[in-house]
Amino acid sequence: MSAPVVTRIAPSPTGYMHIGTARTALFNWLFARGRGGKFLLRIEDTDRERSTPEATDAILRGMEWLGLDYDGEAVSQFERAGRHAEVAHEMLAKGHAYKCFATQDEIQAFRDQAKEEGRSTLYRSPWRDADPATHPDAPYVIRMKAPQDGTTVIRDQVQGDVTIRNDQLDDMIVLRSDGTPTYMLAVVVDDHDMGVTHVIRGDDHLNNAARQMLVYEAMGWPLPVYAHIPLIFGPDGKKLSKRHGATGVEEYQGMGYPAAGMRNYLARLGWSHGDDEFFSDAQAMEWFDLGGIGKSPSRFDFKKLENLCGQHIAASDDAALLQELTAFTEASGEIQLDDSDKALLAKGMYCLKERAKTFPELLEKAHFILAKRPLELDEKAQAALDTVSRGILNELTPQLQNASWEREALEGVVAAVAEAHGTKLGKLAGPLRAALAGRSVTPSVFDMMLVIGRDETINRLKDVVG
Ligand code: GLU
Repeated sequence: MSAPVVTRIAPSPTGYMHIGTARTALFNWLFARGRGGKFLLRIEDTDRERSTPEATDAILRGMEWLGLDYDGEAVSQFERAGRHAEVAHEMLAKGHAYKCFATQDEIQAFRDQAKEEGRSTLYRSPWRDADPATHPDAPYVIRMKAPQDGTTVIRDQVQGDVTIRNDQLDDMIVLRSDGTPTYMLAVVVDDHDMGVTHVIRGDDHLNNAARQMLVYEAMGWPLPVYAHIPLIFGPDGKKLSKRHGATGVEEYQGMGYPAAGMRNYLARLGWSHGDDEFFSDAQAMEWFDLGGIGKSPSRFDFKKLENLCGQHIAASDDAALLQELTAFTEASGEIQLDDSDKALLAKGMYCLKERAKTFPELLEKAHFILAKRPLELDEKAQAALDTVSRGILNELTPQLQNASWEREALEGVVAAVAEAHGTKLGKLAGPLRAALAGRSVTPSVFDMMLVIGRDETINRLKDVVG
């Protein structure tokens, strides 16, 4: 039996949560969840100057909103600094690393000279092979002893075999002179200690993999499976940036995209399963594999995102949708839903969720539920309520008083009144819509009548008939 899968997302908390981080998290989540494995979260807060608690909160909120649940607690990389130092010293003891006493000035002088002589400016420390007896009593860093000839091959599940010439690797620093670990060391130690079996991350880390592999080798640790995924581009084929639109997870949440639609869209961004576009989490978990990840950058397609979100809203369970809608209104703070609003929204969800791509669109359709009498009539609604129409509505009102409050019966009553006036049901729908919602774009008049009920329907008609 092969070892259980363990994946992770390891964001650096240095700003907002980028949509690319969300996609990487999603891929790792799908891969682990589809295999009964574990998905872990590690906050890479080793860089104290750039890391902020606000950025960590944004990551935690983003993961929660997207529904990407992780196993156990989030791990703080910074808190593991002692362990990182311990590994650096172990590599030192085993002779895979060495103390380097070179000063910044000496390193700069080395580089300047190499440049002048047209040689590689990759720093080669004179301390690599120095006899420890010659070590001064001075600050030092610990560097890896990287191989200087031959090649390193990264067997990447997305990029294929990537060969790096070892003469292009420098002896990277793993522990600074103040005893703090570098990011390159911390990543490997943490991944090993957390039991990570698959490292799925952005291909901006591909070159790092060659250097990180040295640490695994030095420690005699098994290598994880690597999968470096291409970055996300904008529709114009350039790296996704603010120019193209929103890049932060919270911005998408704020625009009211449903999390399920977002997950579906992000899964399709750089990964495919045949021609499948619209799918559930369960399907994505079952289907997701590293072989389906494309080698070239994907392009963010806002239309496709909207389209999938619309399909997810329509396919959602009504109660779950109401819950998500409520969370959206609470977070946006623009609308307060009271219990009676919620009860009516629950009743009407079946007709609201058709053709709404975002929560603001859904709320727009729910205007007839949320608006209070007497309704404000927009221009089109006012135009629809001319004298003749008001007259017909005036006749309709008492008939509704006695009608049985079911779709067919209501259709019958309205059709009969329309017919009596030599007009079609469709002609009466405009004024009726105007009276019931104050607008011209709404769910069907019968749906509105059924949702708001007899008394409210009649009162709204009386309001406009005067
Ligand atoms: N902390 C890195 C980043 O945010 C990710 C490192 C990794 O996945 O190995 O880009």
